[in-house]
Amino acid sequence: MAFHDLPPIGMPGQPWGDAEVAAWRTRQQVRRSYETDVLRRIEGLRVHFDVLQYGQLDYPSGSYPLFALRSRNWRDELPPVLVTGGVHGYETSGVHGALQFAELHAAGYAGRVNLLMAPCVSPWGYERIHRWNADARDPNRSFREDSPVQESAALMDLVAPIRERALVHIDLHETTDSDESEFRPALAARDGLVFEPGEIPDGFYLVDDSDHPQPAFQQAIINAVARVTHIAPADACGRIIGSPVVGPGVIQYPLRQLGLCAGVTYAPYKTTTEVYPDSPRATPEQCNAAQATAVCAAIDFALAHPAGASGAA
Ligand SMILES: [Zn+2]
Repeated sequence: MAFHDLPPIGMPGQPWGDAEVAAWRTRQQVRRSYETDVLRRIEGLRVHFDVLQYGQLDYPSGSYPLFALRSRNWRDELPPVLVTGGVHGYETSGVHGALQFAELHAAGYAGRVNLLMAPCVSPWGYERIHRWNADARDPNRSFREDSPVQESAALMDLVAPIRERALVHIDLHETTDSDESEFRPALAARDGLVFEPGEIPDGFYLVDDSDHPQPAFQQAIINAVARVTHIAPADACGRIIGSPVVGPGVIQYPLRQLGLCAGVTYAPYKTTTEVYPDSPRATPEQCNAAQATAVCAAIDFALAHPAGASGAA
């Protein structure tokens, strides 16, 4: 059900307080299982990876252990690669794409990189198919020092040892029709603002770091993913989701300034994927494959262009 099909929470023009957040939370029902969909697959990967619990979310509506997968033979001389999914829990292919990469492709990188993968950063949101955590906060605006968002703070602690040395960080996301029908209206209501309608792009795109752009790296990923699913075209104004297109299927944000997950390391090669699962031209299988393909293309490019890394760090 679309957000605006329900009675509004709070007063128009006034930001939510604790009572409004509590009212919002009672509307969020469990719609799928983190245990079944994610934890069982992580268990199955124990034969190939070290599995580490890096945190635990304790909400009145449920407890969630947070897990990461790490290369079993971690060697300090190899460059670390960070793969994150499910920072927005509702973005299904981010979670399943990270797991698919771990299951099908990660072995091919053994001895060349150290992998650190957190496939489902926001399990409360995964189960409720929501963008926010249980406190109505967006983890992907909250990767900051002393973050009040548990999901973000736990990941930052996990990543701290490789923050300076990571070669690649790829953060797997989706842009969905529910962004426009549910999550953007909810954000405006929460903050006491007027909802301004926007447009959802039809196709895959990437978000580069405007502070340290890597256009050749982004384009290599776009070229690889284009063989799996279609790339979002620029709109009539030359934009994707309101931002100028800097290369086919690529826009830029100041990652660290916005508190985005992709800014959590100093990796020279960083990107955020945005799969479009609601396209009539994309199946769930294609979306998962697009994410896994993007991870492979990102690592392949970085390993082939180590000089670009030292120039941009
Ligand atoms: Zn997202």
